[in-house]
Amino acid sequence: MSGTYLPYNFVIGFILDTMPEAIIVGAGLGGLSTALRLSNKGYSVTLLEKEDRAGGRLNILEQEGFTFDMGPSFFSMSYEFDELFQSVGIPNPLVLDKLNPIYQIYFRNKLNPIKLYTDIDSLEKEFDFEPDFRIKYEKYMKKAGQFFHDTEGPIIKQNFDSVLDYFAHFFQVPLQHTPYLFKSMWSHLEDSFEQDRTRIIFSLVAFFLGSTPFKTPSIYSLLNYTELKNDGYWAVKGGMYTIVREIISILESRGVKFVYQTEIVDIKSEGEKIVALIDQKGNQWNSDVYVINSDAAYFRGKILKRNKFTEKKLDNMDWTLAPFTIYLGIKNKVPNLMHHNYFLGDNFQSYASKIFTSSVPPEKPYYYVNASSKSDTTCAPEGMENIFILCPVPDLRFKKSWPEKNQFAKDIIRDFEERIGFEILGNIKTKIIMSPEDWAQKFNLYKGSGLGLAHGMNQVGGFRPKNFDEQFSNLFYVGASTTPGTGLPMVVISSRLVTERIEQSYGKIPVR
Ligand SMILES: Cc1cc2nc3c(=O)[nH]c(=O)nc-3n(C[C@H](O)[C@H](O)[C@H](O)COP(=O)(O)OP(=O)(O)OC[C@H]3O[C@@H](n4cnc5c(N)ncnc54)[C@H](O)[C@@H]3O)c2cc1C
Repeated sequence: MSGTYLPYNFVIGFILDTMPEAIIVGAGLGGLSTALRLSNKGYSVTLLEKEDRAGGRLNILEQEGFTFDMGPSFFSMSYEFDELFQSVGIPNPLVLDKLNPIYQIYFRNKLNPIKLYTDIDSLEKEFDFEPDFRIKYEKYMKKAGQFFHDTEGPIIKQNFDSVLDYFAHFFQVPLQHTPYLFKSMWSHLEDSFEQDRTRIIFSLVAFFLGSTPFKTPSIYSLLNYTELKNDGYWAVKGGMYTIVREIISILESRGVKFVYQTEIVDIKSEGEKIVALIDQKGNQWNSDVYVINSDAAYFRGKILKRNKFTEKKLDNMDWTLAPFTIYLGIKNKVPNLMHHNYFLGDNFQSYASKIFTSSVPPEKPYYYVNASSKSDTTCAPEGMENIFILCPVPDLRFKKSWPEKNQFAKDIIRDFEERIGFEILGNIKTKIIMSPEDWAQKFNLYKGSGLGLAHGMNQVGGFRPKNFDEQFSNLFYVGASTTPGTGLPMVVISSRLVTERIEQSYGKIPVR
């Protein structure tokens, strides 16, 4: 651990064969991928993680022979993982499975689920209730594709020094898209399709952004393009945690240090530099550069005590929904399920308008069910199934505690068994339930918000918490609540952007 400063330290350090040091707080995907990039650029990297394993939300649960993906179960823009590994001189070690159909959607009181295929011929058969589906779909997707390709370069994959700089980039986006910033996704879907069921299915992506289709700008239909046309959705052979295992193995081979059960609770500064981070036991951690993978807004409020991020101000920001998750080891094979399934009700508009701010659990909840044992037999003992249920619920600002956690889980399972016509409650071999309180406590997620800060126009680009600190010149941020946003590929991009920032600030170090 060193106490001297950059860039003098870098030059002398290199000459004396001591590497500049970087401490990363948090070993989520953001922290891990930044560690990969920085170690490749000559930094000596240490990761400090409050939990006893790496991965953050991209994690795994293991119980009685069953394994469960704790959070993410698939991702888009797989080429971002190629870029990550290639940037450190290693071919992508992940074996990916492309999903087709990407998922199926059950509507209440409708017998057959609708499968979302990526090929238009199969998709058209599923949407036989929507007149002229193919023509409407192609037109909708063409526009969504333009939104995506016209913003990916100038907006999504860019660092912005200021709001002004952000606007300068914004002017590179064709003017014809401007009206779609002010029109809601739902209204765009109403113009594009006739049937509510079609509109609902294509609007589900709005929830991934932390809002409803009634509030989300229609430009975000670009997400429909990424899931169905551009690169599609991918799962990882061996389970999602393989991503973490592969990155750890490269990092360990490159001498990166992991320190677990170490939570940063305070800082020590001199002038415009951080000189140490302080953990829960009072230990001090010194470095040249510090990268925070803990939530970028929450850390500024809780640890740095910044006025712009007081609890009151954080509460006034828009946050994504909180996860209520149930992991079930089932003694038998479960019929009528695919790897990825959504179970929706028949009151979409009223459900969507209440779900973010309700102080009681939803009565007829909407939820996602994942059965990874459908495509990977190693996740469950032979003849059995692993089921993961994710029900998005209000965060802890609105519903402050979950004393009814077990009962709520039981209600969801009852609903689920009715809808697939198979007894689940009597077939449970093992069970884990995580409420928003558990998620909040485990990974320091602000009020249990599952995906971090939402993505309204006032919280993206130049308006999102920056990946460099406002006060300390050697402090940076990576992850879901800084730029560009949440989700695995975005977090990988975030690691590239923060590495560029660090290089800009301190100059490139020659790779040895
Ligand atoms: C239930 C659920 C399902 C999801 N599904 C998908 C999906 O299917 N596809 C997709 O692309 N995305 C999905 N996501 C989103 C995705 O998981 C996140 O966007 C991504 O994993 C965030 O990574 P991160 O590195 O920014 O943060 P995290 O994963 O939260 O990592 C931050 C790390 O920092 C540690 N930490 C926090 N504070 C401190 C501290 N003070 N000191 C030390 N350590 C600290 C935490 O313990 C954690 O390990 C899902 C999220 C959830 C919750």
